[in-house]
Amino acid sequence: MQAEVPDHARIVIVGGGIMGVGLLYHLAEEGCSDVLLIEKGELTSGSTWHAAGQCPSLVGNYNLAKIHHHGNTLYPKLEELTGQYVSWHASGSIRIARTSDDLDWFKYMQGIADNVGFRMQIIGPDEIRKINPFMNTEGVLAGAWTLDDGHADPAGLTQAMARGAKNSGAAIIRHNRVTDIRALPSGEWEVVTEKGTVKAEIVVNAAGCFARQVAQMVGSDLPICNMEHHYIVTGPVPEFEARDEEIPVMRDPYASAYLRQEQNCGLVGIYEHNGITQAWAPSGFPNWDSDCELFSDDLERLMPWLARAMECMPVLEAAGIKRIVNGAIPHSADGPPLLGPVAGLKNFWHCCGSSFGIAQGAGCGKYLAQWILYGDAEINMTEFDPRRFGGYADDDYMQAKGFQDYGMTYLTPLPGEELPAARDCRTSPLQKTLQAHGCVYTQTFGWERPKWFSPDGRTEQYSYRRNNVFEVVRDECLAVRERVGILDLTGFAKYEVSGPDAEVFLNRICANRIPVKPGRIGLVHVLSEAGRIQAEMTVTRLDDDRFYLLSAAAAELRDLDFLCHGQLPDEEVSINNVTNDRGVLVLAGPRSRDLLRTLSDTPLDSVAFPWLSGREITVAGLSVRALRVNYVGELGWELHAAMADMQGLYDALWAAGQEFGLSNFGLYAVNSLRMEKAYRGWGAELTNEVTMLDAAMDRFIRFDKDDFIGKQATLQQAEQGLSWKLVYIEVDASDSDIRGGEPVFCGDLCIGVTTSGAYGHCVQKSLGFAYVDIAYADAETRFHVDLLGDRRAAEVLAEPVYDPANDKLRT
Ligand SMILES: Cc1cc2nc3c(=O)[nH]c(=O)nc-3n(C[C@H](O)[C@H](O)[C@H](O)COP(=O)(O)OP(=O)(O)OC[C@H]3O[C@@H](n4cnc5c(N)ncnc54)[C@H](O)[C@@H]3O)c2cc1C
Repeated sequence: MQAEVPDHARIVIVGGGIMGVGLLYHLAEEGCSDVLLIEKGELTSGSTWHAAGQCPSLVGNYNLAKIHHHGNTLYPKLEELTGQYVSWHASGSIRIARTSDDLDWFKYMQGIADNVGFRMQIIGPDEIRKINPFMNTEGVLAGAWTLDDGHADPAGLTQAMARGAKNSGAAIIRHNRVTDIRALPSGEWEVVTEKGTVKAEIVVNAAGCFARQVAQMVGSDLPICNMEHHYIVTGPVPEFEARDEEIPVMRDPYASAYLRQEQNCGLVGIYEHNGITQAWAPSGFPNWDSDCELFSDDLERLMPWLARAMECMPVLEAAGIKRIVNGAIPHSADGPPLLGPVAGLKNFWHCCGSSFGIAQGAGCGKYLAQWILYGDAEINMTEFDPRRFGGYADDDYMQAKGFQDYGMTYLTPLPGEELPAARDCRTSPLQKTLQAHGCVYTQTFGWERPKWFSPDGRTEQYSYRRNNVFEVVRDECLAVRERVGILDLTGFAKYEVSGPDAEVFLNRICANRIPVKPGRIGLVHVLSEAGRIQAEMTVTRLDDDRFYLLSAAAAELRDLDFLCHGQLPDEEVSINNVTNDRGVLVLAGPRSRDLLRTLSDTPLDSVAFPWLSGREITVAGLSVRALRVNYVGELGWELHAAMADMQGLYDALWAAGQEFGLSNFGLYAVNSLRMEKAYRGWGAELTNEVTMLDAAMDRFIRFDKDDFIGKQATLQQAEQGLSWKLVYIEVDASDSDIRGGEPVFCGDLCIGVTTSGAYGHCVQKSLGFAYVDIAYADAETRFHVDLLGDRRAAEVLAEPVYDPANDKLRT
């Protein structure tokens, strides 16, 4: 008997694949049972039922690894917990390295394994053959053997979590399509289904390949491309039959394939690339009738890769192909799933875009449930937040990025690698000019932003170690420290907040005091009720009731939401996103004032124009909002000019700057310079995982203010004490520096994790940040950081290694 559609549910989840059911299970586990999941067909009848069921531990980054690890911890126990058979095979996996970059990545990932807590060993070819005697190890350097993962029946996992959720009181209605979702004046949602309408406080879109359609029901959109993906199952392999033990799941970049045992047969899945990939419903709008659908196979497309796979495990060749599965996988534009709130809407969430949904379903459900119910997850969710994409992510963007991401599934991710698809979505007016200076761009929230400037046409040789741009970046850093540098940071997110209640409003949502005098600038943070860091912004008071706010380019939509959602109904405040109105040039270095003086009549001395102040000035005849701040720790100004004036402004500065040794610099140099000043970075040191006190940002909290969001929790933490804390460290590194995610050890005890780092070229020290157990947070404490498999000595520093008293900034 099917349940009837109730009038009301606190949370409605649209979609009963492993992502929706994983969320349902974890909401119920957290004690929230007033949840209804609605599925248009049977549970799993979208992408989930036909998946190959592998759950790897080894993935590209620290937070995603935590998501995978949760699945690999829960799935082996699910049958015992729920009584539902899930066919968990604890086979482990071996990923193959064929190049020194592959091996360096393993060494980096070994650190992440140590941190996250899954077992991993880097093993040589002989060891690989001992574990899998069928693997051809010719050309193989090493393997990353992860022992805690395996594969399972995707339908079994989903049904088990569904059963567990139902046992805790959650409800599921099948064979009932959601046809519309409407916002009610009460702030609730009306979810219209084929069998009735239900009111919900919160709606979650877990519609898999249909997620774009569901998003459009509420006027939103999603950068999802649905890819076709094949695996083949071979006939029985006698050599498998002769063994008691199952071989691990093998993954080899040479064949862009996974290879494993399926009972006594072989199973090979291919992520084909080199231009021949295929999307299902390329627009992202599949037919609603599609249910348990598979596509006709295209073996021709796979053949070159299958041939390679057979080279890797020749034992499969004679077994022939018994079955071919070609099904749809939803792919987000950049790889990780889309987990989090929808930009501009309250109480509408996404839980979709997962291309490894079997491996990720449980972990995504766990951390998203925490976020929905408590306002924060216990892991950093920045890289999963759907608001990491904006309106620039159109159909072409989704498809180009989706194809790229699919093809790269088994390629080793390389630090700093610039990928070609869907570039130039958002560009500064200076792009051509800077390219003529050798600018190499990187992309953030669609914006092309200068990364470094090639002085001699060289291209970057991507590596986990210091590479051929090391000395180029050093020269850019020295130019800023010794002379003057210029950087186009047009991509900054910019907002104007105005109105009679603007100051009260900002003081209420920010932990720091909003600048009192017009023209003053302050650094402020938006916290959650639990006191965790949500946003960091620079606020300039333009007038009594007008403020100019700047935040990270990547946070444009997130921070707009914090501002808009933070406003109370009776507060008279107007919030405008003015990001596209102005471009930004950073002019920084000891000669910056001398240079600017040649183009402006405004007094620029420290009395007339002090550090942390801003005003409208004229530079080369152009109106510019000049702010005396920067992220590199030098005398300098950010010049915010109308987009149309950017070219004229840059040209004038460049011409006048020759006399002062003006040099272009990019974001690689910024990272080195900010590390020398111990400036924390949003998304790395400052995340939803931590509080202001954890991040040692106490000086940006004003407890003497009446109230601000997160004050009570911050006070409580101050009273209770910290369990971990951010420390600034110097590392005895040789040819590689901290990237973030490396484990910190005291003896064999893992006491913390790094968040970011860089070589400080001007101080000639390798520097980084790490969150460590509070017992190790005092200055001069010594411990070790694991850098690519080497335990490197590190020491906690008491203060920034460059200009700790900020004399250069005040000068
Ligand atoms: C051949 C193949 C092999 C794979 N192998 C693996 C693997 O080994 N490991 C791995 O981790 N991943 C694998 N995947 C990927 C995995 O299948 C997907 O990532 C995962 O199934 C996505 O789950 P989902 O819940 O997001 O989507 P789905 O399973 O598609 O669930 C979405 C559900 O929403 C329902 N729905 C949509 N719109 C509505 C509506 N309006 N009203 C009600 N219901 C609606 C759909 O009917 C569907 O059931 C594989 C995929 C393929 C194609």
